Amino acid sequence: MDPQSLTIAATRAAVQERRTTATALAEDFYQRIEKQDALIGAYLTLSKERALAKAAEIDALAAKGRELPPLGGVPVAIKDVMVTRGVRTTAGSKILGNYVPPYDCTAVARMESAGAVVLGKLNCDEFAMGSSNENSAWRPVRNPRDLSRVPGGSSGGSAAAVAANMAVATLGSDTGGSIRQPASFCGVVGLMPTYGRVSRYGLIAFASSLDRIGPLAKTVKDAALVLRTIAGRDPMDSSSVDVPVPDYVSELGKPVRGLKLGVPKEYFGEGLDDEVRKAVETAIQKLATLGCEIVPISLPHTKYAIPTYYIVATAEASSNLARFDGVRYGYRAGDARTLSEMYRRTRGQGFGAEVKRRIMLGAYALSAGYYDAYYLKAQKVRTLLAQDFAEAFKKVDAIVTPTSPTAAFKLGEKVDDPLAMYLADIFTVTADLVGIPGISVPCGETKERLPIGLQILGKHFDEATILQVGNAFEQN
Ligand code: GLN
Repeated sequence: MDPQSLTIAATRAAVQERRTTATALAEDFYQRIEKQDALIGAYLTLSKERALAKAAEIDALAAKGRELPPLGGVPVAIKDVMVTRGVRTTAGSKILGNYVPPYDCTAVARMESAGAVVLGKLNCDEFAMGSSNENSAWRPVRNPRDLSRVPGGSSGGSAAAVAANMAVATLGSDTGGSIRQPASFCGVVGLMPTYGRVSRYGLIAFASSLDRIGPLAKTVKDAALVLRTIAGRDPMDSSSVDVPVPDYVSELGKPVRGLKLGVPKEYFGEGLDDEVRKAVETAIQKLATLGCEIVPISLPHTKYAIPTYYIVATAEASSNLARFDGVRYGYRAGDARTLSEMYRRTRGQGFGAEVKRRIMLGAYALSAGYYDAYYLKAQKVRTLLAQDFAEAFKKVDAIVTPTSPTAAFKLGEKVDDPLAMYLADIFTVTADLVGIPGISVPCGETKERLPIGLQILGKHFDEATILQVGNAFEQN
């Protein structure tokens, strides 16, 4: 079977109809991983035992002629910031280098209950902090489309694994763009659901008012299928919301004619690469020919999004990462004589440079005397950003923009310039701050054949509309 043709539905059907088995598929994927991943670096840990046990269970169902669950036999993989019982989970950090969690992340458990075969854990920036995957403590990930380039981050492994057919679909997390930007760089679909739509129980926290889990996949329909699987209230996460989960898949085909799509002028200004601009403008024209009404809009506070994000995210990170102290789990530095020396050495040796930079920035923004000037101010600007969107969504059903100002950049190109790296998040961080859903769908290539992504942003809890628009675009 040609792995590129394996969507979720095609994979499940092949197992259901006994044209292959879930076991054979898993072995086939592991072989491809063995062959390709030394170069790409998408996987950190393989969970063969667990995968083959699940595959055998699915094969037994198929052999009895039973109807398989929606992801029955589908090989998937999980960003290494979601805990997996009995399977090493590092968050891309040395401080969790040998951490084997005693429980499963809800999103992972729901994927498995729906029949998915979890092949392993995927590389990412340390604690999901980064835009290029070069902050992984273990190794960078390379973009399967061009090995000299980054796959994006922080869910770089999740995007690369799908792009290189080393998983049919994957889970990633998005705090400031980490699902959508790597999806865009690797030429796959990446969906960030509304804040509260998917349980974060078992997600290793980066910035709790921003963090979300969502799918990366080859098609919009696959993303819809995974979202349907993982969405919905979970009593283990009080921030997951009890609103009905629509059947995203059956709503996909609804016509987009008459939908109003906003095009914010602030997303097409200075700094946007010409080829990206052209591809996105062409995509918007395409949507117009499908009957969407294109409406120019303004999101006037956009220029404050990056500073606001990098204060809120680092402040929350400095608090969340306080738990990594060498006492209860993870790495502990040896040869310390006092408790505080043990803390200092553990954290000094366990965290990488970018994580330390953020802990310091965040602790500074929260400290007495600076809190009002930084953290409190950022929270106020966050409200203004939310008002921008509330105003816009009175006039339009969804908003279309580029996902990233450029296509994938070279490995090493921005590592020594953290500010340049932060600025690359300009089009993604706002949706995180505001809590709305967003999807990145491939919309063309540069002359160098690097993928370009179209971002579609929707109203709170209206993933259905952005999936519909994404699907209509993809099918045409
Ligand atoms: N690139 C952003 C950052 O470094 C976003 C990361 C993310 O979404 N996890 O914080």
